[in-house]
Amino acid sequence: MLFLLFSVICLAGVALATPVATKRDVDLSTLSFISINSSLPKIALYSTGGTIISALSYGPLDNINYGGAPGPTPAQFVNNNSEVLNLAQIGVLSFPAPGGSAGINSSLFLNVSQYANKQLCAEGSDLVGAVVFHGTNTMIETAIGLDLTVNCSKPVIFAAAMRPDTYISPDGRSNFYQAVAAAVSPLSRDRGAMIAMNDRLTSVYYSTKTNANTPDTFKALEQGFLGNFLGGQPHYYFGASQPTGKHWFDTSNITDLPPVTILYGHQGVDAKLLYNAVENGAKGLVLIGPGPGALAPAVNAAAANLTAQGIPIVDAMRPVSGVSVPPPVPGAIIYSGYFDAEHARVQLQLAIGSGYSYDRIREVFEADLRSAIYSGHNKVVYGL
Ligand code: ASP
Repeated sequence: MLFLLFSVICLAGVALATPVATKRDVDLSTLSFISINSSLPKIALYSTGGTIISALSYGPLDNINYGGAPGPTPAQFVNNNSEVLNLAQIGVLSFPAPGGSAGINSSLFLNVSQYANKQLCAEGSDLVGAVVFHGTNTMIETAIGLDLTVNCSKPVIFAAAMRPDTYISPDGRSNFYQAVAAAVSPLSRDRGAMIAMNDRLTSVYYSTKTNANTPDTFKALEQGFLGNFLGGQPHYYFGASQPTGKHWFDTSNITDLPPVTILYGHQGVDAKLLYNAVENGAKGLVLIGPGPGALAPAVNAAAANLTAQGIPIVDAMRPVSGVSVPPPVPGAIIYSGYFDAEHARVQLQLAIGSGYSYDRIREVFEADLRSAIYSGHNKVVYGL
């Protein structure tokens, strides 16, 4: 029986590790191509805005209160940085997000993902990759949304900036060049979505914004960088591989994602906030628990009540790095593993939006760690 259970978990692990193949027709009609050489590979540039195409308010040293003057359009930015046109033909599509990325919600990534699946991943598409512009503040949320839903092996590279385009030494221009170089490189395939910033490539799955102000901000503190850029070209430290335990979602029939609220755990936390969030419409909760996801007794009790009512609750660690580890015997609460709350919220939205059962949601978050930890001699150690 135990062996059967273990085999089922292993099989589930294998099934989770492949993109969802859905047949789609290619539709490049919404891309406006900029090209100086029709023999170059084609990429899509999905622009949602951000500091990379913003302009100063107060002068060339203003990297704090910028955004007052209009910045270049994505097409102007491409033409202003015309070296990129020696690498690729670039098809631009804008998804304007006025007011900065803090105001964006998940319908943006759903929208971009549906375009990417029709343009980049459709059978017969001659696009080799995509670059996405995004404000850095919530970039990870859109980026993980795309990483989990763009269902092919072609690279999706996020390019952003911490300094406006009019700064004395803007970072966005070289980030853009390098992102395009990565998007056209066959070596970038099958690695999941990546971020090209500050001369480095990081995995969207594992990274987060670690500094509110400086260009060296996106890091995977535990897993490290995937590669760097030398002479503008990507150089990967290892061969291609996808993050362990990654799950792909098919969004072709999803029109809307359910609201999921994140609640921050701290000393003196008010457990009533869990009920308030659900009363306000949350269809799932992500709790940030101090340490590896420790929850106050009152929060645990509220979570048990709400999970009994069918509200999925995922517990993520509060430290900037580490793992929220599932216990040996599954309980009501689901543990986020390596995902911090910002990644976990998006995955929970996708899982609920895909109509997954509670057990399937748990499997998406926990199956990989469970089979890694609670196997072999640990079955004896943990009484399984
Ligand atoms: N204001 C920007 C944002 O929308 C910040 C940035 O792009 O770095 O996130």
